[in-house]
Amino acid sequence: MAAEGGAAPAPHSSSNPPSVDPAWAHGIVVDMARRKVQCKYCTRVLSGGIFRLKQHLVRIKGEVAPCSKVSAEVRIQFCQYMKEKETSKVNN
Ligand SMILES: [Zn+2]
Repeated sequence: MAAEGGAAPAPHSSSNPPSVDPAWAHGIVVDMARRKVQCKYCTRVLSGGIFRLKQHLVRIKGEVAPCSKVSAEVRIQFCQYMKEKETSKVNN
């Protein structure tokens, strides 16, 4: 008897964030209404949404406490991502 029970159920993706940002892979939404996002690395909860999480991961000084547990790989990835955003804004 060959029982076929190895079929994986299709993942339900009904609660996707409106804009797919690469930073969502590194944070968890705590409170969407208040834009609270938790860092996956240091478990710190940041208020200010995904943009704040990116600043936290890249360790931009001033507006948010820097992440102490993020890997250099991830940090560099978002460093470049932020730079691309910045350069696309300057349009001379
Ligand atoms: Zn962190």
